[in-house]
Parts: sequence; structure tokens; C-alpha cells
Amino acid sequence: MEKQLQHIVFEKVGEVCRNQNQEAYVIGGFVRDILLQRQSNDIDIVTLGSGIDFAQKVALLLDPKIKVSVFKNFGTAMFRYRDWEVEFVGARKESYQRDSRKPIVEDGTLEDDQKRRDFTINALAINLHPDHFGELVDPFNGIQDLHDKIIRTPLNPDTTYSDDPLRMLRAIRFANQLGFTIEDQSLIAIERNKERIAIISYERIIEELNKIMMCPKPSIGFKLLQTTGLLKIVFPELDAMTGVDEVKGHKHKDNFLHTLQVLDNICLTTDNLWLRWSALLHDIAKPRTKKYIESQGWTFHGHEFIGSKMIPAIFRAMKLPLNEKMKYVQKMVSLHMRPIVLSQEIVTDSAVRRLLYDAGDDIDDLLVLCDADITSKNPDKVARYLENYQLVRLKLKEVEEKDKLRNWQPPVSGEEIMQVFGITPCRQVGIIKDAIRDAILDGEIENNYSSAYQLMLEKGEKLGLNPVNKG
Ligand code: ATP
Repeated sequence: MEKQLQHIVFEKVGEVCRNQNQEAYVIGGFVRDILLQRQSNDIDIVTLGSGIDFAQKVALLLDPKIKVSVFKNFGTAMFRYRDWEVEFVGARKESYQRDSRKPIVEDGTLEDDQKRRDFTINALAINLHPDHFGELVDPFNGIQDLHDKIIRTPLNPDTTYSDDPLRMLRAIRFANQLGFTIEDQSLIAIERNKERIAIISYERIIEELNKIMMCPKPSIGFKLLQTTGLLKIVFPELDAMTGVDEVKGHKHKDNFLHTLQVLDNICLTTDNLWLRWSALLHDIAKPRTKKYIESQGWTFHGHEFIGSKMIPAIFRAMKLPLNEKMKYVQKMVSLHMRPIVLSQEIVTDSAVRRLLYDAGDDIDDLLVLCDADITSKNPDKVARYLENYQLVRLKLKEVEEKDKLRNWQPPVSGEEIMQVFGITPCRQVGIIKDAIRDAILDGEIENNYSSAYQLMLEKGEKLGLNPVNKG
């Protein structure tokens, strides 16, 4: 620990402590992380006095050119120095009202400040005053909890969670990230206070969910969200996937557990957050499409299409981005059943071409999702399915090398169709465009400009269109 405290920022904090005869501590996540030997670039300093004045004095000693950002309303200040983000606050006491996670704040002691922290492991402070440099202040046995790998609140958990319900998600996120256990009373308090999550904005909720998503094994976090009842409130569509139905002795698999397994699988291969989201959402429409058919058993017909249609509403409700990232997830969900078809049947080049065209540059990601979707417990089956997808990859490669369909656009554009026939955007343009694309993908005409142009003229004629005379 000594080594991590030999830091230029702490040295200067110490100097200001001495000059001002004021106490300051490094507190929270940074202390937790050095004790866990985790890398952390965020330093939180708490001082007994004004955090803003203190920050400005430290910055001046470090480098007069540093720009200090001051948040007067919060009584905090921060600056960046090299790779470090350093935040300062005066020790404070907080009291909460029922309908808000914004507390009423007044000046307080170090212990008051530690009490307002979410977990004992996040309430540890180290003195930076040169006379007491390196002394740990641990009023809630945070060190013991770090050692025992326990998430525990410094106050009664009902108070901590009810005051700021975001802490319930943070508890689950930390449990997942650090491999810790949430202490029993705390877990019960989360269940009891779950409805309080309603006062938290989705922006904050998603921040925590995304941190869970980026864990090596996010199923741990999602299972905790489910069993505490939080999932049903923050992500009802995912919660609806839990459970197994039975008809005449026939059961389907638990789609929630299957999904989590797919998610864990994909996390072994990718850090792409949106591919991870695709795994989480790939079967999201199974509850809606579930049907028991006498001759077939349990079916989920069309779940990939309905699923991809559900995504904009989910993204909107959860304040996830509504841009190309959402489109990517939609694409993954809608296409996730396609490669398996290519592996099972004797496939035509045309089917392979269509998948290449529909998936474009995301074809490799799609196959990563398909591999992850194999969750059989039978190792022989897993090996066979993986091999099938390797064959699909080969077929895709062969056709791609021949036809270069990645990011391909048909050789005649909608713009040109309108110009040739002297028409404005209308249904006919789409019909002709689709006909050209389909004819090329199906191998009916060559993939070149003159064949496409010829087909455009033929299709136009059938639709009663005549080329305008350019003369
Ligand atoms: P991470 O960087 O992984 O999010 P962290 O603990 O450093 O972990 P921050 O959000 O940077 O998280 O918070 C820094 C410190 O502020 C925490 O360690 C904790 O002491 C305190 N803190 C943050 N959020 C809360 C909260 N909602 N309630 C109480 N204390 C909090």
C-alpha cells in the first residue's frame, strides 16, 4: 500500500494539509481498489473544510496550468492530472427525503462522511496529513469485509437502500465485479426496498447494468437482479423469460437461464458491449411467441422477428442509444436463426449470398453469437454444432470470395431509377430496386451494371414506366 500512496498528488495534498493545518483523506473506491490490488485512476479526496478551496491549492502546487472544474452546488471540485481524475469534497453529513435521492447536505465529520457511503468496503479512508500519513480510518470494519468478500452497508441496510435506491444496483454490480457476496440482511433489505428503484433515472440504472454486462460472468448479477425482484421492475421483458411451462409432461427450457448462459458464453469471446446486449436479447420474444403444438411440442415461431421489433421500445424505455448500436442489436436478433439453417440443409449459393448481404460486415459477430447460443449439456452435441458453424463459415467464405457481397450495394441505385423514368420517390422505385437485388442474389442475372440496367428497363416496362428521352 505504501507504494501506491507514494503519489505526487498525495504528496501535494499532504503539503496543503500542513500549510493549512487541515485534514484530508483519500477515501472510497481508490482505497478499496489498492487493497484489492485493482487498478484505479479515480482518486476521491475528502477534507475537513472546503473541498473547493483545497482542490485549488493542490492544483496550484501540482501545476498552475491545471484547470479545476468547480461544482458549487455540490461543494465539489475536480481536475485531471496526467492519467488521474482527482475529486475533492468537504466532509459532509447527508439527510434524505422520501421522494428523491438528492440529500440535504451539511458540513460534517469524517465519520459522518463515511456513514453516507454505500458499503463498508467503500467507506475506508487513509489519512494524508504528513503527521498521520498512511493511517487507515475504518469505523465499519471494511477491511474485514474486504477480506471476507462481503458487501455490507455501514448503516442499517433499509436506511442505506431507501435513502438512495441506486445503491441496490451498485451492491449487485460490486458483488458481480469483485466476486463478493451480499450479506444476508442486506439482500433481504434489497428485496424489501426494491420498489424504491422507481425514483432512479434509467440513465443511472443503465450505467450499472452496463457494468454488470461488462463483467466476465454477468449471469451472477442478472440472477441477483431476478431473485431480488429488481429485474421485474427495471427490465420486465427479461424477467418474463424466467420459468418453465409444462403441457402433457412436455417442458420447455427456462429461457432466462438459457439466455444467461449464452451471455456468459459470449463474454468469453468478446468485449463488445453491443454484441453482449445482442446475446441478452436474442430470445427476448420467446415468452410472447411460446406455443404448445400437439404435433411439434413447444414452439417459438418467429421469435427472432418479433424480438427484433421489440428492441426499439426496450431501448427507448431504458434510455439505451437509439442509433446504429440499436440497429446492430436488432440485426443480430433478427438474424440469429439464419446460420443454423445454412448448416442443416443442402444450401444454395443464393441462401448464403442473402445472409452475407443481410449481415454485411457483422457476419462474424453473428457467428460468434450462434456459437455462444449452443448451450447443450452434451459435449458431443456441442462439438457437432460448433463444427456445423465452422462449415457455415467455410461456405460463407467461399461465396464471399466469389461474389464480394460484404457491404455490397446493387449496381443501379434508386436515384438512377428515378432519373431514368423521370419519377419522384414512389412504390415503383422500391419494386424495381428489390427486383434487381433479388435477381443478383439469386444468381438470375450477373452482378454488373449492364445486366442490372437491362433488368431495370424490363421491370419498368411491366410497371407501365417509360424511360424519359434524354435528347
Ligand atoms: P467504480 O469506479 O467501479 O464505479 P467506485 O466505488 O470508485 O467504483 P464511484 O461511483 O466512483 O465508484 O464512487 C466513489 C465513491 O463514492 C464510492 O467508493 C463510495 O464511497 C461513494 N459513492 C458512490 N456512489 C455512491 C452512492 N450512490 N451512495 C453512497 N456512496 C456512494
